[in-house]
Amino acid sequence: MSPSAREIRYSFELFPPKTPEMEARLWDSVERLAALNPSFVSVTYGAGGSTRERTLGVVERLAGQTALEPAGHITCVGASRAEVDDVLARYWKAGVRRIVALRGDPPEGPGATYAPHPDGYAYACDLIAGARAIADFDISVGCYPEVHPDARDIKAEIENLKRKLDAGAARAITQFFFDPDVFCRFRDAAANAGVSRPIVPGIMLQSNFKGLARMAALCGARIPARIAALYDGLEADVATRDLITAQLVAELCNRLRDEGVDDFHFYTMNRANLSLATCRLLGVAKAHEAA
Ligand code: FAD
Repeated sequence: MSPSAREIRYSFELFPPKTPEMEARLWDSVERLAALNPSFVSVTYGAGGSTRERTLGVVERLAGQTALEPAGHITCVGASRAEVDDVLARYWKAGVRRIVALRGDPPEGPGATYAPHPDGYAYACDLIAGARAIADFDISVGCYPEVHPDARDIKAEIENLKRKLDAGAARAITQFFFDPDVFCRFRDAAANAGVSRPIVPGIMLQSNFKGLARMAALCGARIPARIAALYDGLEADVATRDLITAQLVAELCNRLRDEGVDDFHFYTMNRANLSLATCRLLGVAKAHEAA
């Protein structure tokens, strides 16, 4: 079946706001993204659990006051099992049925030596087992097509992914990447290793190239020189950067569509315009908005 004949699904990732201005932007974005009828909308859990109450607040409001299906992120770094279980129980009580379960990064940042909390869940696979003992959550996990900084190689990366799926995760969402071949190679290697649950590409909608390059370096995502060159000299020109980003993301998604991918997770950075533009460029927004 040609890509245009296949249904496309997508979810959006948001982060909890720090200031009243960011809060206003978040809820404005939520309203605009809701028109696209996403599968779910996830809310990140700040580094080391630093946004626990703010994340809970956003997730609870999404669950209680919108028609959207929220997914609460949760990490186990720096927290006891009791603290993590308490957040999970609060999610469930608020009607939240989806979570994104992650280990989290050490306080010094990605790549620094990780030490589990003495009374905590050590890794994401342990957290998944804990969450499943609390309630019947639909669980997504992270995976890394360019290999997590702590993993030895792609084989170890896929073994870890299998551990998380075996522990009860329903799907994996990838770290962002820029080259469709990177995703396809990883998906195919995982399938060859016996992974049968969906691997959903995580697509970054960040047009601030400086910030993007910093994030990419930390998590080991390679930015092709062609892409870096497109943003060169546009540091002060947000509008043009946005146009380029929408075009590049649509190009990436369409290449993935050609490879049989129908499900996308967009890292929205709490801005609706790039998500709306991307969905339009993928030919889906109109149908959903009319529905
Ligand atoms: P894990 O799957 O636990 O694995 C990380 C590494 O630990 C593995 O590569 C392996 O080297 C090692 N390891 C795993 N299991 C074992 C084991 N049993 N024994 C020994 N070693 C093991 N971070 C946040 O703080 N908040 C968020 O909201 C957030 N959202 C994210 C969403 C997505 C889709 C993705 C891809 C990442 C997100 N992150 C978030 C970042 C994530 O927390 C970091 O990448 C973190 O370093 C790894 O988390 P993980 O769940 O993938 O780790």
